[in-house]
Amino acid sequence: MAVLVTGASGFIALHVINLLLSQNYKVIGTVRSQAKADKVIRQFNNPNLSFEIISDITKLDAFDETLKKHGKEIDNVIHMASPLPEEGNTDFENHYLLPAVNGTKSILSAIKKFAPRSVKHVVMTSSIAAIINVNDFSVVTTEKDWNPITWEQAKTSSFMCYLGSKTYSEKAAWDFLKENKDEVDFKFTAVNPAMVFGRQMFDEDVKDTLNVSCEFVNKILCLPPTEKLSQDYAMSYVHVDDVALAHVKAIQEDKFDGKRLLLSAGTYSDQLIANSINKQFPQIKGTIPPAVEDCKQLDIRYDSAVTQKLLGIEWKSFDASVYDIVHQALKRRGKL
Ligand code: NDP
Repeated sequence: MAVLVTGASGFIALHVINLLLSQNYKVIGTVRSQAKADKVIRQFNNPNLSFEIISDITKLDAFDETLKKHGKEIDNVIHMASPLPEEGNTDFENHYLLPAVNGTKSILSAIKKFAPRSVKHVVMTSSIAAIINVNDFSVVTTEKDWNPITWEQAKTSSFMCYLGSKTYSEKAAWDFLKENKDEVDFKFTAVNPAMVFGRQMFDEDVKDTLNVSCEFVNKILCLPPTEKLSQDYAMSYVHVDDVALAHVKAIQEDKFDGKRLLLSAGTYSDQLIANSINKQFPQIKGTIPPAVEDCKQLDIRYDSAVTQKLLGIEWKSFDASVYDIVHQALKRRGKL
């Protein structure tokens, strides 16, 4: 039997696939192009990994062919494909909202049509974006909370649109489960990570600019030492290893059925990132913004205690999360 992973060329997906392959799962990935499939096949070089090409997840029958072909051999699905915020892309509905929402509907309806008995568990990579309170970021939220963002609010910027795309796509999944409870019997878990930090799975993917979330750390390396950094709340973070582990644990144990897993290890500011880099990489001191010793400490905005207990893991630390990005980036620049 195999695990179907959608969006299998992404930053987090490569870590999830790596963990699955290391535990001897067969993995069928879906990507948008043959070139991406070829690259990931080469990178893993593992006969348990294969690919299907799905060029447009916005189509409501996007996953039908794949589930028709492989339905009987797939017992778990991890749905990760979804657009990340992209500066300058203002086609909010078509670029973000519809692929996210329709992609979720199309994978679930393909399972219902072609693999309603063989698929045992579906894990959807949602986001803290579906939990955050867009009208008041200072409210402490938990797995029980939903972002109150409206469809109209979502169409005002790429950031808002991302928040909306994750909120409405996760809602679409829970609605599907309610509406189809007599026709499908798979278990379902939503994984809601904060900003995901950590190393790129393969060194060759370390470029000047990294994937959206790691770039929040990488960009500090390019700032001059004179730059004044914000000490105010930026976001909350979680290490990619913990995110991969949560996805794999979710398909392995029934106790995760019907749960939302809030993956949040703590809050950070740009200045706290710089402090961590200066502490851990003294060799680049003076080339980036300096540490500030009495830096503002930030309140917890997300209470992930329930998820942490359920998963039974200790979150990897902020320093470890920053280290893994910076170490790889500096190595590539020949500074280590
Ligand atoms: P990546 O951009 O690295 O991966 C996103 C994946 O989704 C890629 O494989 C991408 O394909 C695919 N994708 C994007 N848009 C489409 C589309 N329109 N049609 C088909 N496939 C598409 O991001 P991450 O690995 O960071 O994100 C993976 C998942 O985790 C997403 O669902 C994201 O919302 C969620 N998440 C990420 C967080 C983070 O901080 N990184 C935090 C919380 C949730 P392609 O390679 O072809 O572009």
